[in-house]
Amino acid sequence: LTSRLRPFTSTIFAEITELARRTGAVNLGQGFPDTDGPAGMLRVAQEAIANGVNQYPPGAGEPDLRAAISEHRQARYGIEHRPEDEVLVTVGATEALTAAMLALVEPGDEVVLVEPYYDSYPVAIAMAGGVRRTVALRQGPDHRFELDVEALRAAVGPQTRALVLNSPHNPTGTVFTDAELAVIAEVCRDNDVIAITDEVYEHLIFDGRQHRPLATLPGMAERTLSISSVGKSFSATGWKIGWICGPAELVAAVRAAKQFMTFVGGAPFQPAVAHALRNELDWVERLREDLQRKRDRLAGGLTEAGFDVLASEGTYFICADVRPLGFADGAELCRSLPERIGLAAIPVQVFCDNPEDAKHLVRFAFCKRDEVLDEAIRRLHKLR
Ligand code: PMP
Ligand code: GLN
Repeated sequence: LTSRLRPFTSTIFAEITELARRTGAVNLGQGFPDTDGPAGMLRVAQEAIANGVNQYPPGAGEPDLRAAISEHRQARYGIEHRPEDEVLVTVGATEALTAAMLALVEPGDEVVLVEPYYDSYPVAIAMAGGVRRTVALRQGPDHRFELDVEALRAAVGPQTRALVLNSPHNPTGTVFTDAELAVIAEVCRDNDVIAITDEVYEHLIFDGRQHRPLATLPGMAERTLSISSVGKSFSATGWKIGWICGPAELVAAVRAAKQFMTFVGGAPFQPAVAHALRNELDWVERLREDLQRKRDRLAGGLTEAGFDVLASEGTYFICADVRPLGFADGAELCRSLPERIGLAAIPVQVFCDNPEDAKHLVRFAFCKRDEVLDEAIRRLHKLR
């Protein structure tokens, strides 16, 4: 294995999911739902397979899917992306992100991440030979994680090529405020930095908050690549259809990398995703309401079990401080939890360059059936 990849041999999700499987633990670790997406969407995929949509789709993605992505961004956020050259279909958000790094980052260029970061970001930067800089989210008053704005200003400079913004944010559930977005946009504009936004949780956002794509801020459309995917919005994390939208020149660069990574992917799923973006947004709204209720259910259970629970404003996830229960290290706790009480969760410190900051935090996924959450809560009470 190359020195570039040696630090990243296994993912925490594989490790904890395997541990959960071996011990028969309830798995609130890896974030995937345990119910299916909209029936209409599933039917379109089945029909596509039956009707011969089984060969390579066009390199940029099925034109009708690109049109549906463009219509969705226009209707929801008022952003214009020409389907012909400003939208690219990828193998999940993961490929979009990695292809963007390979296409845009020269060896030695710096890329700024918000920490804790989603686990594929540092690997994508490393594959491109880039150097990561991280800016921490800190626990503010009212139990919300906040962007350290001064640290952001200090981290970005002439050496910075790109900044990755994930909102709603995995693992904390933070939705960046307009004020935070304004500072991020200003820093990107002032330093001529490309913003790469991971918006896979764009629809899973709670308590009346709105998702605001960074590309809608002044001067940002021309320097932002916006990424999303089918997995979270439509409960189909195994389909791996994603997309990246932005200025034609940047999208062409990403496409140059993507065509030699996977060339294309998921032909019969592409018409199904187009159908979902056009016809299943009411279904997504019900999913959103459901997830908000599940967040409250799990937050209540965690609080009763003695955890100090942090705010989750979106995503599948909620974080809790384990110190009130007498534990000092979330990673140690998560490695023993399956054996101990039959529950799996993810330590937040694995998403950090400065693990000390998040040592006491554990992430729980609430995108599960109510009976699964209730069983998890019952087991959590055994920790006392
Ligand atoms: N970004 C974030 C923040 C995620 O949580 C995930 C997890 N699924 C992904 C990207 C990956 O998305 P996809 O499955 O579409 O590649
Ligand atoms: N996005 C999912 C999570 O954060 C996991 C995806 C994966 O297993 N790589 O739990």
